[in-house]
Amino acid sequence: MTSVHDPALDDSAVVASPYQRAVAEYWNAERNPVNLRLGEVDGIYHHHYGIGDVDWSVLQSPPEVREERVVEELHRLESAQADFLLDHLGTVGPEDRVLDAGCGRGGSSLVAAARFGCRVDGISISQAQVDFANEQAKRRGVDGSVRFHLRNMLDTGFPTGAFQAIWNNESTMYVELGSLFAEHSRLLRRGGRYVTITGCYNDAYGLPSRAVSQINAHYICDIHPRSTYFKEMAANRLVPVSVVDLTATTVPYWRLRARSSLATGIENAFLDAYTGGSFQYLLIAADRI
Ligand code: SAM
Repeated sequence: MTSVHDPALDDSAVVASPYQRAVAEYWNAERNPVNLRLGEVDGIYHHHYGIGDVDWSVLQSPPEVREERVVEELHRLESAQADFLLDHLGTVGPEDRVLDAGCGRGGSSLVAAARFGCRVDGISISQAQVDFANEQAKRRGVDGSVRFHLRNMLDTGFPTGAFQAIWNNESTMYVELGSLFAEHSRLLRRGGRYVTITGCYNDAYGLPSRAVSQINAHYICDIHPRSTYFKEMAANRLVPVSVVDLTATTVPYWRLRARSSLATGIENAFLDAYTGGSFQYLLIAADRI
């Protein structure tokens, strides 16, 4: 097998398996317009999906501005998703420290720092993302309080009890949940808050549908069943305080994206999975007891 690993990115101390190597390489190489063009709207780069009602009038815009309007609308919806996640983080003060686990290009971390005025650490298994995110923090003049690190979220090396809050925004499907929640439980102080927004397959439907399997293959991920989240949280002192089914509110985002020039080809799999009932988009917030 040929590896495209760039020796200039020495991540061997962080990448712990051939699978994680594949994930790191995917994100190191990723230059997807649906992520980059949306981030260019205001310099907040998200790699997650959107929620909320779509302003469909953007599709009727004059041809010369139509694409720009669609990009702005998709970005508005992905920003609403990040805001909704942060709404569930509980009370976070300027003295607190929070962790963005699987931080992508760092958008949610920058939004959290602006909202809470606290110290934020973002971690990714991709050195390219970490470098990009640190550059964004520098440009915004917040690199003293928002720092991005090449670290594995299963074994972060951060001190025990260091964090008031931790979130995973669409990054739990890259790891085994028992190991992830054990590490989060170690890092959170007692009474701290954990939040995830994630796609999960619906146990009530059965095993993963064809559409869910297509999504797994597309992103090199392993979507977990809904039941595993609650089982592994309970096993790791994380007690759910809110569970919100966002499935219906993310479908409009996918419908708009499917009609945009930024469609990547995976849109119909998401729409089939969500509307067919095999896949759910959930927010789960839990207290560390
Ligand atoms: N949370 C970000 C957001 O909302 O924009 C990015 C989500 S992106 C879909 C998934 C992220 O998980 C990538 O940044 C990837 O590098 C990260 N990731 C995957 N496995 C990881 C691991 N074992 N440790 C740290 N980060 C990991």
